[in-house]
Amino acid sequence: MAISAFDVAQQQFDAAAEAMGLDLSMREVLRVPQRELIVNFPVRMDKGPVRVFTGYRVQHNITRGPAKGGLRYHPAVTLDEVRALAMWMSWKTALMGIPFGGAKGGVVCAPETLSDRELENLTRRYATEIAILVGPHSDIPAPDVGTNAQVMAWFMDTMSMHAGYSMPAVITGKPIPVGGSLGRMEATGRGVATVTVEALEHMGIEPADASIAVQGFGNVGSISALLLSRKGCKVVGVSDVHGAIWDPAGLDIEDLIPWSRMHKTVVGYPGSSPVSNAELLTGNATVVVPAALEGVITTEIAREARCKLVVEGANGPTAPDADQVLKERGIMLVPDILANAGGVVVSYFEWVQDLQAFFWEESEINGRLEALMHRAFAQVWGVAHESNTSLREAAYSLALDKVAQATLVRGIYP
Ligand code: NAD
Repeated sequence: MAISAFDVAQQQFDAAAEAMGLDLSMREVLRVPQRELIVNFPVRMDKGPVRVFTGYRVQHNITRGPAKGGLRYHPAVTLDEVRALAMWMSWKTALMGIPFGGAKGGVVCAPETLSDRELENLTRRYATEIAILVGPHSDIPAPDVGTNAQVMAWFMDTMSMHAGYSMPAVITGKPIPVGGSLGRMEATGRGVATVTVEALEHMGIEPADASIAVQGFGNVGSISALLLSRKGCKVVGVSDVHGAIWDPAGLDIEDLIPWSRMHKTVVGYPGSSPVSNAELLTGNATVVVPAALEGVITTEIAREARCKLVVEGANGPTAPDADQVLKERGIMLVPDILANAGGVVVSYFEWVQDLQAFFWEESEINGRLEALMHRAFAQVWGVAHESNTSLREAAYSLALDKVAQATLVRGIYP
């Protein structure tokens, strides 16, 4: 039986807790989410009867600050997946040193099959259902797979209508006219590109000598590919839910992005050859960036992989056994809680700007983001080197330690 994303998250947690000798009571506290909300709610469809959708909001840990984490709209969303994603958010915010806990939400739906009006109705009703948890000082959602700035705007408007005043700080990843931050849309990809180049530097590889394969061509995948190509890397393969393409001479990402928007897929891009998903992940590229969904780097893929570096743009893309295989084969891996943290970092900047009603220049945002990514990378690299562990083990020990320390000083209530 396939293990769930939450099993993976707990296995990663258990391994890290064991390696750092974390107190047993602390392990009990941190290995489960604090709050889990399941909602079933009706949505008026354009045609036919009302449909009932199921959604979730899980707060894993709020010891270090308000809960923070995205909203996923996807047919495969489950409570266990949302729990895993919420837990990873707690470690990510701790590792990056930003004052948030971890949360995640999701609705079981296929957004591409809904009309704009249906998507708006669904979002507004879901927002209302989870409003008992959400607020600028309690729980601040953001975009994830299947949601975007427009969905964030509907969510913010719904919360604001209920409050009777504009509440921009209730959600991040919003459009600029309603309190969004410059640079937020590109932030996760910018962070991925920053740590990729940094890891390559440590490995003695120049960006111009590195080829890249990116799985997923949504927000994270497309921006990672674009910024890596601008840094001089050659992006040789990309994929989306419809398939994968390859061009050993390098794809023109500046051109592919508008082309894929127009054709609603990357498949068929002129000059590229179709390849399978497995071929994309095991092809002849220096770096593989999984930027779609969980569990895609299986043991088989890890055994066949020809890359030197995996940078986890997605959350939880590597199965624990595969992680071990990559390690044994000497393939370096920058873990999700570091690699894709750029999104939550700029979400933090957006929240700060909204609370202060004072907005920063894009250059300041990008500069601060890159500084935080470099700081976190250096800390993780340093610990990994000192203790001769993988970057994931190092990142986990730093993150868990911060959450455990906060829990310890706050004490157990009552
Ligand atoms: P998105 O919806 O914008 O894009 C997802 C992409 O993955 C699409 O191109 C889709 O076609 C593709 N995809 C879906 N299923 C696939 C499959 N089976 N094989 C290949 N491609 C597939 O989502 P996103 O916001 O880019 O998120 C991608 C990943 O990054 C997720 O794991 C998410 O949790 C993580 N993440 C996102 C952010 C953010 O700011 N958006 C931040 C941190 C982490």
